[in-house]
Amino acid sequence: MSKTTSTSRRPFRIGRAKTGLGLFATKLIRRGSFIVRYIGRMLPNRIADELDNKYLFEVNARWTVDGSSRKNVARYVNHSCRPNAEADVKKRKILISAIKTINPGDEITYNYGRDYFNAFIKDHGCRCAACHQKKLVRRSQHRSRKKRKGRKSRTRRTRTRN
Ligand SMILES: [Zn+2]
Repeated sequence: MSKTTSTSRRPFRIGRAKTGLGLFATKLIRRGSFIVRYIGRMLPNRIADELDNKYLFEVNARWTVDGSSRKNVARYVNHSCRPNAEADVKKRKILISAIKTINPGDEITYNYGRDYFNAFIKDHGCRCAACHQKKLVRRSQHRSRKKRKGRKSRTRRTRTRN
C-alpha cells in the first residue's frame, strides 16, 4: 500500500487544537466505527513505570504500549471529559473508535481516564471543550449572583399553626 493511499483513506488530519496539536475529522465518522489504532512498542509495566513519558498506555496488568513515536498518529488525540471517541483494548491492541457521530472539522477526543487526569491534567486544570464550557457557565452564574446580592432575600414561608 502506498503512503498517499493510506493517508487519503484516513477520516482525519492532524491540526492545531487549543492544547497544541489534535486530530480532526475530515469525513463524517459514524458512531461505532473504528478511527485509528494507538501503536507503539510493547513494554512490561515495571519498565514503563520508570519512564517519564506522557504517551504510555497500559493495556493490562503486565503490558504498556509506548505511543511516543510520531508514527503513532493516535497520540495526537486529545483528552476530553465529554469525548466523542473511546479507546478500547482488544488483545493488547488499542483501538480508538467513535462513540458519537463525528462531523468533518470536529476534533476527535477520548477520555484518558482518572490516573492520567490526576497525574497530568488536574494541577493546571482541564482545558477540554466540556470543562471550558463549564467554566464559562460558572463565571456567568457568579456574576448574576453578585448582581442579586443587594436585593432583599426571599422571605421564607412559615407554617401557620392554629
Ligand atoms: Zn475536561
